[in-house]
Amino acid sequence: MGKDSAHDKTGIERIKAALARPFAFASKDSFAHIESIKGLDALVSTLCDGEARHATDVQLSAITTLKRLFNDFDSLSSDYKKERIREAQRLLDADACEAHPAPLAAKPPLTEQEADERLKELQAPLRFVKGIGPRLAERFAAKGLLTVEDMLYCLPLRYEDRSRLKKVQGLAVGEDAAVLVTVIASSEARYGARKVFEMVANDSTGILKVKWFHYKLSYMKNRCKSGSRLILYGRVSKFGHQIEMIHPDIEEMDESETIASSSGVVPVYSQLDGVHQKTLRKIFGSIVADYGHKAVDSVPVAIRSRRRVSEQSKAFEALHLPQSSGLFLEKAREARRTLAYDELFMLELGLAMRRRAIKKEGGIAFDAARKDPSGLEARLRESLPFSLTTAQERALSEIKKDMNAPLPMNRLIQGDVGSGKTVVSLIAALMAIESGYQAAIMSPTEILAEQHYLTVHRYMETIGIRAMLLRGAMKAKERRVVLKEIQEGGVDLIIGTHALIQKDVEFAKLGLVIIDEQHRFGVVQRGELRKKAQGASPDMLIMTATPIPRTLAMTAFGDLDVSIIDQLPPGRQPVRTRILREKDRASAYQAISRALVEGGQCYIVYPLVEESKEVPLKDATSMKEHLQRDIFPEHRIGLLHGRLTTVEKESVMRDFKDGRTHILVSTTVIEVGVDVPNATVMLIEHAERFGLAQLHQLRGRVGRGVKPSLCMLLAAWTNSEDTYKRLKVMTETSDGFQLAEEDLKIRGPGNFTGVRQSGLPDLRLSFALTDTALLKAARDDAFGYLEQNPELAGPEGILIKKILKSRWASRLELAEVG
Ligand code: ADP
Ligand code: MG
Repeated sequence: MGKDSAHDKTGIERIKAALARPFAFASKDSFAHIESIKGLDALVSTLCDGEARHATDVQLSAITTLKRLFNDFDSLSSDYKKERIREAQRLLDADACEAHPAPLAAKPPLTEQEADERLKELQAPLRFVKGIGPRLAERFAAKGLLTVEDMLYCLPLRYEDRSRLKKVQGLAVGEDAAVLVTVIASSEARYGARKVFEMVANDSTGILKVKWFHYKLSYMKNRCKSGSRLILYGRVSKFGHQIEMIHPDIEEMDESETIASSSGVVPVYSQLDGVHQKTLRKIFGSIVADYGHKAVDSVPVAIRSRRRVSEQSKAFEALHLPQSSGLFLEKAREARRTLAYDELFMLELGLAMRRRAIKKEGGIAFDAARKDPSGLEARLRESLPFSLTTAQERALSEIKKDMNAPLPMNRLIQGDVGSGKTVVSLIAALMAIESGYQAAIMSPTEILAEQHYLTVHRYMETIGIRAMLLRGAMKAKERRVVLKEIQEGGVDLIIGTHALIQKDVEFAKLGLVIIDEQHRFGVVQRGELRKKAQGASPDMLIMTATPIPRTLAMTAFGDLDVSIIDQLPPGRQPVRTRILREKDRASAYQAISRALVEGGQCYIVYPLVEESKEVPLKDATSMKEHLQRDIFPEHRIGLLHGRLTTVEKESVMRDFKDGRTHILVSTTVIEVGVDVPNATVMLIEHAERFGLAQLHQLRGRVGRGVKPSLCMLLAAWTNSEDTYKRLKVMTETSDGFQLAEEDLKIRGPGNFTGVRQSGLPDLRLSFALTDTALLKAARDDAFGYLEQNPELAGPEGILIKKILKSRWASRLELAEVG
């Protein structure tokens, strides 16, 4: 390769030369003309594609990054545009032709013994690690970091290029920057009830003011002593004429330390109370140095080289011990990709194995295809005042196919609120019942189970099927009666919560389990329910209204088949959505009044149950009092939240459902399943606190009747454009899937309730899930690999098995492994 490097170099050089003029123009007069630049994305893309054909791996990765930097360029704000151009320049300036990494080694795979030793060492508890005592270990433990491996995977939040520290004078409002300053003075100030910690600092070029609104006084006083030299990192803002930083990260520089001695690139880790970044850096650095090379690669070499994924040990090094070269960011990105790929590959492999294992269990072949005009299904359909939508029919025929097959069904139905999943699941239940089995419906909460029961019971009554509710809080005697019925087969359809999987519940002949709102149920519970059926595994139907982006659902739930009901029953009125500010509060109350006067009902939702000293948010309890006393004295208001007992909740819900209360003040407990068609208005306070997917769920409580409905999102104090933009999406679409995609894009999967709670195992690197392309690749590779090597045989297979066992077994409930 060395010989070619002159030629290789020209690839990047050529791109650099071609971009020199556009970049020069763009950055002229401090980027004054940046907005007039158009078509840079196309130019970069053409250049990159042209050069990619004869690029080496390292160059290719630089080229790919470059292309990625510009693919959404035109849609960015000027600040981001500037940043992208700067980053591109850094990338091109750097020596992109550094020594080429050795081709993926034809190293012999580890022997079993070596692998065992390494895996064990990586599981070593932190307190046994050099330089970490029990006290420090405890602090890390509080963050979920228990082992050496946990530490390796605890990646820096960002990097600071100390060679690029700014001068105060050069700070531009809106940018994120690092400056080295000396503290002039600092103290706590009070503005009315509000306390602020303020600091004034300077360097040779100017004065910077710094403010904190949340802080621990003793800590701040200690760190911001006058005369201290600090590196501040944060967003630059302006108050009047004064340049400021609000809540920057701070790092102390020792007396002896000069910039030169600490120059270069340093990783910055998530704060650990009372532990300085410098110390953290040292700890992580030494762990990586001592243990990084012991990382065991799980992805087979052939796949790694095809996907351009490097070794894990290299990745850990690049991330925790970045080299001071212009390419460090690029290298860190590649390293993250390596680790992400590894996670995804193993996740998908585990899911593929679970899917295989389920298919191997004996399932029940129901006799569900029968078109019997006097059969249960036909009778139910006849009793419905509507016919099923095309989407419902499609889902149903997919379910039927599964149920008739002698394999256990494991199917997820995704459908927006109100799309009619309940009826579909009931027809499935009838198929099971008609074949002589029992069906069970599990709901996440007592309220929902109860509500489900009320609906279901009505349908079932008309066709002569017995349904029963098994409550958690039943009197012992009552419970015994129900249990007996279940055990003797006197009841066909049983509805309940997780109480259904308690030890004392025995089924006569359980054939189908319907799980409502699966995101509240972990994988483990599903397994437990499966154990409830003797002999053949029951079929499993999981319903969720949490819209999970299609790509994510298809790939992440590798062991489930997915049906999507993407159509609402006809005649549904879309819910009008408005974003309001605090000043609009009166008009929000007026809208509620109007609806109430017309005989409608209304929800008002708060993020908190009770007033909290820590969080300055409105809470349901005190707002209910206020609303009742001062705003709507002539209407009856109910209060619902998670701290009520089941009985209390039920009576509050029933009062609202039956119209005895007109307004329901609530926390998010009303999120799923609640069905009151007469409720036409919803007000959500502190809407900025909720994710789009969650807002969508909440909004789904209105618009369930024939009258037009309104959803008002009251966003309290927000100076952030992003918040507004995010909420605006709510006004533009009622498509849950689209909102979910937006949520995923804006907030990432870590915040994505649908995914986190869906029983999907925690990934160490949740960012991996945002890379759809990588996820797809990993899925293809994993499923393909298992196809070729179903028993995970051979040295490579055995190694994979070991890793699965050590890192994933508990997370994936893989009974088979090992
Ligand atoms: P989901 O559980 O998907 O949120 P539900 O099953 O509770 O939705 O259905 C919402 C409402 O729509 C119910 O009142 C139900 O009776 C009604 N419904 C279901 N399917 C149809 C249909 N095909 N046409 C008209 N109404 C329907
Ligand atoms: Mg439902």
